[in-house]
Amino acid sequence: MSYVLPVLLVIGSVVFMEWFATWSHRHIMHGWGWGWHKSHHEPHDHALEKNDLYAVVFAGVAILLFLAGEAWWRPLTWIALGVTIYGFLYFVLHDGLVHQRWPFKYIPRKGYLKRVYQAHRLHHAVKGKDGCVSFGFVYAPPVDKLVRELQEYRNSDASRHGEEPPTTH
Ligand SMILES: [Zn+2]
Ligand SMILES: [Zn+2]
Repeated sequence: MSYVLPVLLVIGSVVFMEWFATWSHRHIMHGWGWGWHKSHHEPHDHALEKNDLYAVVFAGVAILLFLAGEAWWRPLTWIALGVTIYGFLYFVLHDGLVHQRWPFKYIPRKGYLKRVYQAHRLHHAVKGKDGCVSFGFVYAPPVDKLVRELQEYRNSDASRHGEEPPTTH
């Protein structure tokens, strides 16, 4: 049964990474880390974005975990593998499927892939860093719920910052 712990650690790390990526996307990338993430929310025709540095940071963490697993404590190797698998899922779903950064065009028409695609498209439906929905990359909330959230934000005071005050006539 020596494979049970490694398998649990790998799966657990993938699940944890989706939670952590969602949390950091909402609170760091759309907060004090917007300086890097902004490049991902603006139209451009460059091959790379400053936002890709986040992927580089995560890759660096995975490499350090692999090294630490070799040198000190084997379970870290399985955690490193989970982080790497998550990075692969992020690359396929977010960079590939949603943003078409691969050399072929495939738009999913049904099922889970369609939902992930639409949910992240809705993440990009708001201009700027505030009022965005759907911060996860693998888990996608129901699309109608996201549309409702977007409408609520548009009808709220927060979305009117910077606009002309309404005139009385
Ligand atoms: Zn974002
Ligand atoms: Zn995106």
